[in-house]
Amino acid sequence: MKYENFINFDFFDFHTHSNTLGNKIFKIYSHDINNFQIQKDTYFSIGIHPWFIEEKKIDESFTLLEDHLNMNRCIAIGETGLDKIRGADFELQKIVFQNHISLANLYNKPLIIHCVKSFDVLLNLIKKTPPTEKCIIHGFNKNYELAEVLLSKGFILSFGALLIKDVRLQKIIQSLGADTFFLETDDATQTIKEIYDFVAKLKGISVEELAESQRKLYLSIFNKLIIG
Ligand SMILES: [Zn+2]
Repeated sequence: MKYENFINFDFFDFHTHSNTLGNKIFKIYSHDINNFQIQKDTYFSIGIHPWFIEEKKIDESFTLLEDHLNMNRCIAIGETGLDKIRGADFELQKIVFQNHISLANLYNKPLIIHCVKSFDVLLNLIKKTPPTEKCIIHGFNKNYELAEVLLSKGFILSFGALLIKDVRLQKIIQSLGADTFFLETDDATQTIKEIYDFVAKLKGISVEELAESQRKLYLSIFNKLIIG
């Protein structure tokens, strides 16, 4: 699948764990380093998710991660990030996340970030280890104020199926330009088409216009990475 083909796709799913191939859907399949199965004809991201950090195997995990970063279809690093509710020891999560930033800078790949109840720490860590590539918060489900702070720091927000029932998220999306956020299914049961339909209606634009805006943002970040 070459970049040219993406132009023909109707929907872009920024972040998904679903390996079913939809013929109108262009997606970034999210791998965890401990569970890597190459998906045919799919671009992917790979990282060490804060839930699945194994302290004893951490050096091994990073070696494995770097091996995969050299693969053609790897176009982003992640999920990585911080989770105060679940996962490895929080101090270890911080170190692992900072290492992901360094790798993103080294390999010139955008970062896909999972962040739960840790945005203050996240903002501190990016001061210590500034990312040179785009950082995308996936599954954003917080408030307008936080969205503004993150956008002002250059983050991109990606919204999932939750927005279909969350009025607060709907208000945020309404205030954003259609080429400034991504949409994703993650592990939801809704399809990316259902999410597109909902967002297009919410913003009073056609699905085609939304798709065009999504392509524009996609290309501004990923175009240089698509090599075959
Ligand atoms: Zn995910």
